[in-house]
Amino acid sequence: MVKKTKAPVTYAKMKGVVSYFTALIKDKKFGSSHSMYYRQMDFLRSESLSEDDGAAAVCFSDPPTEEPQSRVSAADFDYLKVIGTGSFGKVFLAKHRENGTHYAVKVLQKHIILSRKEERHVMCEHRVLLKTLNHPFLVKLHFSFQTKDRLYLVLDYACGGELFYHLQRELVFCEPRARFYAAEMASALGYLHSLNIVYRDLKPENILLDSAGHVVLTDFGLCKEGVAGRDTTRTFCGTPEYLAPEVLQQKEYDRTVDWWGLGAVLHEMLYGLPPFYSADRFEMLRNIIYQPLVLKPGVSSGARDLLKRLLNRDRAKRLGAKRDLVELQSHSFFSSIQWDELVAKKIPPPFIPSLSSPGDLTNIDPRFTDLPVPQSLGACEEYGATFPGFTYISENTSSLSVQTRGH
Ligand code: ATP
Repeated sequence: MVKKTKAPVTYAKMKGVVSYFTALIKDKKFGSSHSMYYRQMDFLRSESLSEDDGAAAVCFSDPPTEEPQSRVSAADFDYLKVIGTGSFGKVFLAKHRENGTHYAVKVLQKHIILSRKEERHVMCEHRVLLKTLNHPFLVKLHFSFQTKDRLYLVLDYACGGELFYHLQRELVFCEPRARFYAAEMASALGYLHSLNIVYRDLKPENILLDSAGHVVLTDFGLCKEGVAGRDTTRTFCGTPEYLAPEVLQQKEYDRTVDWWGLGAVLHEMLYGLPPFYSADRFEMLRNIIYQPLVLKPGVSSGARDLLKRLLNRDRAKRLGAKRDLVELQSHSFFSSIQWDELVAKKIPPPFIPSLSSPGDLTNIDPRFTDLPVPQSLGACEEYGATFPGFTYISENTSSLSVQTRGH
């Protein structure tokens, strides 16, 4: 099992390191690599711009529209514990003061977003959250609102914790359990693809479990992973062991990167390590790009065949390249899965997280829950609509009897 680290390596730096060493591995020309590094960073900058112009159509530079006043505000919640950390702030377990419901509240610091020029990416994550409200295995947004200094995203609390928190304890999952999680993830990814969204960033810390043991994917990668220029300081958490080789090599890529990511995660669930793993990070990068996939015995031939097809370096031949999710659904590894029942959450999860109450923190890593909760959260925060279009109240929860607080 790989120990996950949240090293303070910026995304841009990591990309740069990856580019640099990819170039070294490929060309073995140390003399030319410096200029290649900068050429690649320019490429990343132009890629980022074209993405923002395309699928991420809510541009921050759009003329600001008048922000509707939200009936929900930061002061409506009690912030109980930190349950996760990210690039722009923290995620808190919070309880709605009036209805007593527990939520995961992602609080983003505006000054960090602005200083890193990441407004577009944050708005795009918000937009993807709004587009994907109706899938059982994608995190659901209930409210979003802003204060002068912060953005708040109020999400379902996935109290089962990170899937890999459980895997780290158990080392490997038995095949039926791995199959169940892989099928739920595949279903979520296929749904995103049907909306022309590529997740791109399937990684352990983004795969959570709900109270019943179903998968919940968080952190929508398309916008979040929009690559910024070389001056960006966005944190790149962990290592690139789940990234497809074409992403590492900065070649053109498409939705099949998600099927590679699923293969990497499935490999880790079955073998306890991601494919091509090496404790030496650069060795691992080289392995992902060049090393033949070796699948040790100990898992069924169906599982190995699926892994080989998902972890095919040729994205045109990768499983899912032609008919996306449908190709995975008809693979023998998934033959026991009734997909309609799966999406209807009628297949009983193989593991039910032990929980004593809806706000239970048993499955959340103490490295988060031990962090302090800032007293200033929700306390007389000044209103500020510097992110037009951010306010949202879900239809299901709009009937909440919440006090009007003017923002
Ligand atoms: P990154 O810097 O990795 O992009 P981020 O700022 O986008 O992070 P998230 O990945 O959305 O933040 O959340 C950070 C962590 O908070 C997650 O890895 C997870 O452990 C926890 N978390 C996020 N959303 C939820 C949720 N709905 N329920 C429970 N925990 C959550």
